[in-house]
Amino acid sequence: MIDTVGIIGAGTMGNGIAQICAAAGVKVVMVDISDAAVSRGLATVGSSLERLVKKEKMTAEDREAALARITATTDNSKLTSCDLVIEAATENEELKVKILKDLCASLQPRALLATNTSSISITKLAAATDRPDRFIGMHFFNPVPVMALVELIRGLQTSDDTQAKAEAFAKRVGKVPITAKNSPGFAVNRILCPMINEAVFALQEGIATAEEIDAGMKLGCNHPIGPLALADLIGLDTMLSVMEVFYNGFNDPKYRPAPLLKEMVDAGRLGRKAGKGFYDYG
Ligand code: NAD
Repeated sequence: MIDTVGIIGAGTMGNGIAQICAAAGVKVVMVDISDAAVSRGLATVGSSLERLVKKEKMTAEDREAALARITATTDNSKLTSCDLVIEAATENEELKVKILKDLCASLQPRALLATNTSSISITKLAAATDRPDRFIGMHFFNPVPVMALVELIRGLQTSDDTQAKAEAFAKRVGKVPITAKNSPGFAVNRILCPMINEAVFALQEGIATAEEIDAGMKLGCNHPIGPLALADLIGLDTMLSVMEVFYNGFNDPKYRPAPLLKEMVDAGRLGRKAGKGFYDYG
């Protein structure tokens, strides 16, 4: 039984995962590198739960109870109580390998480890730990409290027991799991990210404006959100890293990142989280 979950990273995904776990009655230890990042993450959970209270999807008491289940800290040693730790730090392989290696010392031997990576090999990350059989990809979607899916990705050494426990946990926190192979982008991003990258190429080539591209995909393909608005939501730095992993992983030029995507990241226009991306969030 998973009673306490550790979450590494209090950013876009980390605080969303913390929120759904806490709301489902699971105790959470959310870790980030600075007090500022930890407070920001906790404040985001607070305001997101507050919106649910205003919409009468949650009572004020349940909001308080959920918040009380979250310990937000910069101290890895608080992870000793966790039955499962989900790594949701910045999408960078070297960084994730270091985090996972350092983390193992603070974990109970039986604890499961998961990563929310969008694009890095689960087998490779698992191999950096002392428990490759108890390691799995748990890929949540953004915004976590809204999106129903969790993609589970088995590494070469992931055990059946780990997969079964991850599946049960995903259901317990209200998500629908699917299982994908460990291949760059797994199933969903393999299809989604090249489409977004192509939208950036179309914008860069002046095929249409950002608004027209997004309206086209919404009205013509029934997508609930346009690809450029979605890129802003995901974060353009995350998008760029994913395309670079595809490009290098498949060794195929069809996955080359659009130059405009690189320019936007260089300019610090990272999307919603920076207040500016393809759109201005003022
Ligand atoms: P983000 O930039 O919003 O947050 C990352 C957080 O990790 C930051 O708060 C940062 O301070 C923290 N961090 C960095 N180094 C750390 C360390 N050593 N210890 C603890 N915390 C550390 O990024 P995000 O969008 O939340 O992405 C996190 C992960 O989730 C990435 O692997 C990404 O690929 C994946 N993901 C993102 C999305 C999305 O739409 N944004 C969707 C699915 C999966």
